[in-house]
Amino acid sequence: MATGRRKTEPVDPRDVPKAVVNRLSLYLRELQQLLSGGHATTSSSRLGQQLGFTDAQVRKDLAYFGQFGQPGVGYRCEELIAAIRAILGTDRQWRVAMVGVGNLGRALLGYRGFISQGFRVVAAFDVDATKTERVVEGVQVYPLEEVGRVVAAESIELGLVAVPASAAQSAADRLVDAGVSGILNFAPVTLNLPPEVSIVGVDLATELEQLCFSVANRVERSTEKS
Ligand code: NAD
Repeated sequence: MATGRRKTEPVDPRDVPKAVVNRLSLYLRELQQLLSGGHATTSSSRLGQQLGFTDAQVRKDLAYFGQFGQPGVGYRCEELIAAIRAILGTDRQWRVAMVGVGNLGRALLGYRGFISQGFRVVAAFDVDATKTERVVEGVQVYPLEEVGRVVAAESIELGLVAVPASAAQSAADRLVDAGVSGILNFAPVTLNLPPEVSIVGVDLATELEQLCFSVANRVERSTEKS
């Protein structure tokens, strides 16, 4: 039977295109769904088909990180899930801080899905005194001035920035000074951070623009045909 076991060492992350890493996350989610649906094994063609990729694309993406499965046989979902989580670094729990406990921050604190994917929000920070010194969705909210102390005490490695755009750079700077290694930025602004700190921006508006582009062009094509 196929094995999802990794057979070679991973490459330098800088040599792996971002699109490949994005697809790894999609493969992971799909594999988790397959497994929870009772499928113990799958193939690159099935995995690709579900996600709109070719089987060759799936195999090529996985080949960046080693040899998985057996040609013509497939992958054990559980083993490939474990392998992808190890590649992504989510095979352990990451301790996370939230900065900004407004509409978005509060909603994210209430999201239970983070835990199962390896992320535990252990502290939150805000500048608004009416929001601090209380527990929101099970997470203690501290005044922003306490970032340095709490990040160290709680061994926090990642920060989520959910403050207004005008405050995002200073909030991120504080997290970096406190020692976090990576920031997920929800504010619609580009952050300038030291190269040793990893940063990923999330912007639903740009995703909507992509969707809009796709829908608008489809409408145009169908108009052309009629
Ligand atoms: P909000 O006004 O409801 O909440 C912002 C919170 O940040 C408030 O509690 C405020 O007190 C706090 N804050 C302000 N300055 C701070 C600082 N320096 N340090 C710590 N906390 C500070 O806003 P929101 O609707 O929750 O949005 C938060 C951010 O997320 C905004 O930048 C918004 O544009 C962005 N956003 C992004 C997406 C996305 O798709 N990425 C979606 C919605 C909102």
